[in-house]
Amino acid sequence: MTDVIIIGAGCAGLTAAIYAIRAGLNVIVLEKGMYGGQISVTNEVENYPSFEKISGPELSTKIYEQTAKLGADIRFEEVLSVELEGEVKQVTTTSQSYQAKAVIIANGVERRKIGCKGEEKFTGKGVSYCATCDGAFFKKQSVAIVGGGNTALEDALFLSNICNKVTIIHRRDVFTAQKILVDAVKQRENIEIRYNATVSSIEGDSLVKSIRIVDTITNQTESIDVTGVFVAIGLIPDNAMFQTIGLDKSGYIIADENCTTKFEGVYVAGDTRTKKLRQIITAVSDGGTAGFEAANYINTHN
Ligand code: NAP
Repeated sequence: MTDVIIIGAGCAGLTAAIYAIRAGLNVIVLEKGMYGGQISVTNEVENYPSFEKISGPELSTKIYEQTAKLGADIRFEEVLSVELEGEVKQVTTTSQSYQAKAVIIANGVERRKIGCKGEEKFTGKGVSYCATCDGAFFKKQSVAIVGGGNTALEDALFLSNICNKVTIIHRRDVFTAQKILVDAVKQRENIEIRYNATVSSIEGDSLVKSIRIVDTITNQTESIDVTGVFVAIGLIPDNAMFQTIGLDKSGYIIADENCTTKFEGVYVAGDTRTKKLRQIITAVSDGGTAGFEAANYINTHN
């Protein structure tokens, strides 16, 4: 039996592994996609102490390599089901079933979808959820970004260096992004901002050709020619599997500041947990706490 199974190899999960391993535990980390979670699709990070500026993929690779070097067994398998009550925890993946004394859930969050006509049809054919990953395909073209938070504005700045024109579509008349980003976006000549607007449909033939937007005040619609649509309207948890622990009304797993849950030996770290501030720094902080708590639990219960 493994001491600790960690679900998710984002910043929270990998940091939890670092703390658990350094506490003498053996650790398996299970990841269904790419390590790094949300930072692996973040252009630049400027608010993680000790790095004035670092790309998201570079930071996540540093954390990944540090964790692997310490001896974490990181496996790229999707978790399908869990049994978390009782002393022996069971985690079943696409490949096999694992037993563990403790489980740390650090599965992160998914990107929210607009839900408009054409979004699904054109995903990968002009609709993207990752400017860093796909921006280069739209060199010298016109693209739209939907959203008004940090991600949308960071993406707008990133894309404005590659594309001829970037149009930000935001449903309100004020951004929620940090002021430094809002100021930078407003200074870029090739970025146009359309406030109080939502996307009603994404249109094209085999690839995206335009979007139809609706002015939320006048209700008037308008078509804008774009070949790319970058969706950056926030994150949503995907926690149906963890319902027995208890989810809040937005679907985040209920866990306290010590990352503990109502099940002994089960901890929750990072964006997937109830909390106010979802940042790299709070994810790694949770990871440290969860790794520490798991070690304490195992030392006193086995
Ligand atoms: P976010 O902060 O939740 O912002 C989501 C944006 O999308 C808001 O402008 C919101 O509008 C809009 N929106 C939500 N649902 C929508 C819908 N159905 N249709 C149209 N617009 C919709 O999301 P995020 O920018 O992805 O950031 C996620 C988290 O990561 C945040 O905590 C953020 O601070 C953090 N982050 C931090 C950094 C950094 O510190 N460098 C970088 C990126 C992300 P309303 O304002 O009207 O709700």
